[in-house]
Amino acid sequence: MIFYAIRGATTVEENTPQQILTRTTTLLETIIERNCIDYKDIVSIIFTGTKDLDAQYPAVAARQMGMVDIPLFCCQEMYVKGSLERCIRVLMHIQVSEPKDVKHVYLEKAKVLRPDLADEILTIAIDGPAGAGKSTIAKAISKTLNILYLDTGAMYRAVAYKMLKSNIDLNDHQKVVNVLNKTDLQVRYDHGKQKIIMDGKDVTSLIRTTEVSQAASKVATIPEIRLKLVDIQRNIASKNSLVMDGRDIGTYVLPNASFKFYLTASLDERAKRRWLEMKANGVEQNIESIRQSIHERDINDQNRSFAPLKQAEDAIVIDSTDKSIEQVTNEILGHIRGSLRKG
Ligand code: C5P
Repeated sequence: MIFYAIRGATTVEENTPQQILTRTTTLLETIIERNCIDYKDIVSIIFTGTKDLDAQYPAVAARQMGMVDIPLFCCQEMYVKGSLERCIRVLMHIQVSEPKDVKHVYLEKAKVLRPDLADEILTIAIDGPAGAGKSTIAKAISKTLNILYLDTGAMYRAVAYKMLKSNIDLNDHQKVVNVLNKTDLQVRYDHGKQKIIMDGKDVTSLIRTTEVSQAASKVATIPEIRLKLVDIQRNIASKNSLVMDGRDIGTYVLPNASFKFYLTASLDERAKRRWLEMKANGVEQNIESIRQSIHERDINDQNRSFAPLKQAEDAIVIDSTDKSIEQVTNEILGHIRGSLRKG
């Protein structure tokens, strides 16, 4: 026999016996239906309710469904400040003779607990200039929500790296396009971490130099290059819930993204952050030259004719100049969770 544990959760709008019973019944029915479970396969079910629910035991719904011999247990969910209200959680243990793919079920406003399991794909676009904190924040959000993180800048960097390695003149756009057309560029995920594979070689750790940064902002002005990379980006987003960061995500790559954020910070602050980051990695560079190089990239990114860096009209703008990474991450998560709860 093989044992599985299946998770589920739902919410009610009101603390009434009727709502608790109907929503719990729907949750149990959905778990049973999606996992093709027979009552005889169920070993036990644990229910929890948030502290604002005291009108009925959710286990009563299971008894009313005919689960008379199954051990059931109800308890109160630990209270955490700011957590989802009026929520009923379920942990169902089953034993079956054949291996199966278990499907956890999150309904109503409880979908916010596991957006990675939601039926709809969740896409979060984060745009902004270099050094605004996009990648650190996008990584934290992807980890919290358990969804992919796609760093689109790494793709432009990989193209730039290839051109530098091949001694291609970056002003010769046709040549750059020809070389890219003969290049096999792939984005892969290894234990959730993005890897850029170029012509079969993992170049992820080779594309973070200042030289590559500058070259990336030059190749990124070439429309044919952008179209090719955008194609890969959209393809990944069509199959996965993700956080994607870059310059044109909310305006061009994913105009219908579920959430759009535009992250910015003063040029001085962004230069300071880059300087500290490089120092932490053992690279000493003059802060003024970092400031100058970020400024140049800002100009390249904002003034190119095709898909320039700009704030999408429907993006939420966050200025992170005086905010910590944690504050900005929580602000973004607050917007996402707040909106998913209302939805
Ligand atoms: O974000 P990151 O600094 O790694 O990006 C490197 C360069 O790639 C940027 O300066 C920008 O010119 C380009 N880029 C872009 N569009 C994106 C992501 C990055 O033009 N979506």
